[in-house]
Amino acid sequence: MHELSTVYYVFDAVKKLMVDNHLQEVGAVTLQVGEVSGIIPEYLESFWQFARKKTALFQNTELKIEPIPAVTYCQACRSTYPTVPQGKTCPYCGSGSTFLLKGNEYNIKEIEAK
Ligand SMILES: [Zn+2]
Repeated sequence: MHELSTVYYVFDAVKKLMVDNHLQEVGAVTLQVGEVSGIIPEYLESFWQFARKKTALFQNTELKIEPIPAVTYCQACRSTYPTVPQGKTCPYCGSGSTFLLKGNEYNIKEIEAK
């Protein structure tokens, strides 16, 4: 149910953006979703469809999802590599002292006025 709370979080954030930008209606919201954010885009999309029907303000608002690839940094050899296929072990030097650079976040990239 992580995705449903994300939808309501995005609704609140978009409402604020609408007030700031003096918008009456929003045609589309583009959300960037990190590969390892724990948010499953298909679920997010279906909860969006469910939630917008119950929210007058967003009844005609489409959701667009852009994935953010996850990238990990290796402190031992200072390389970066894609997180999803490799996990926490550096594919170049085999070190485990790595940390995630990006990919566990989500952001509203843009909203399109109707
Ligand atoms: Zn390494």
